[in-house]
Amino acid sequence: MICVAVANQKGGVGKTTSAINLGTALAATGSRVLLIDLDPQGNASTGLGIPHSARTHTSYDVLVGDTPVQAAVVPTRVPRLDVVPATVDLSGAEIELVEFEQRTHRLDQALQRTPPRWDIVLIDCPPSLGLLTINAMVAADRLLVPLQCEFFALEGLSQLLSTVERIRARFNPGLSILGVALTMYDRRNRLTEQVATDVRAVLGKVVFDTVIPRNVRLSEAPSHGLPALVYDHRCSGSEAYIALARELIARLPAAAVAA
Ligand code: ATP
Ligand code: MG
Repeated sequence: MICVAVANQKGGVGKTTSAINLGTALAATGSRVLLIDLDPQGNASTGLGIPHSARTHTSYDVLVGDTPVQAAVVPTRVPRLDVVPATVDLSGAEIELVEFEQRTHRLDQALQRTPPRWDIVLIDCPPSLGLLTINAMVAADRLLVPLQCEFFALEGLSQLLSTVERIRARFNPGLSILGVALTMYDRRNRLTEQVATDVRAVLGKVVFDTVIPRNVRLSEAPSHGLPALVYDHRCSGSEAYIALARELIARLPAAAVAA
């Protein structure tokens, strides 16, 4: 199982939208995908149509309790895509985890004990660099960073990258950046294009070629409990996520992705 954390401490940059739709695209190509919702907002769970009544065991129980990952898994309407849901309980975990000696390794340890029923584990991180995101980074092999095409896009990125460096040095030498995905790209806005050019100049090849356009279908889909790729697979947002998934697959080890 390869583990990819979707992280950026900035709020509302497209982490959850990316996790849901890339997870769907990867499942559609034949990979068995597990999406772990590690955000107390539970947006990934809601966006995948998991009602609160079905969230009996959650990522909170995995992190703070002794619930095995596989016991918290809920199937989604997308074949081969499962989710470990989150509820608002998870907001308490940041504080409760402090009590544990292995507070940074709780998710990693839980995943190590998980039978390899999935090819890819995607972790949807909350908008902070607290213990939840650190648990995700310790557990992950790769980091996927959605970056919104706006004026302050690069601000905060250095903080994210120095956190990655610290995690790599202290806990997880195998952690690497899978890529940076530019999101909410608005072709009619000259600033967007300028930001994209600047980001590429600074970060280089780590930035995916595919950009995710600003597309209202992407924002409508979660209210129907469906990935945009299912809600409207022909909208520009879905097409972009399919293209991004293709690039992602090319960067992942062959064992993680179906032939
Ligand atoms: P948070 O930090 O709160 O977890 P996030 O980084 O996970 O946020 P999303 O929830 O994916 O970001 O997106 C923020 C909002 O923008 C949501 O309402 C989502 O539907 C919308 N959105 C995301 N991507 C796009 C897009 N490409 N075009 C239009 N709307 C989008
Ligand atoms: Mg989110």
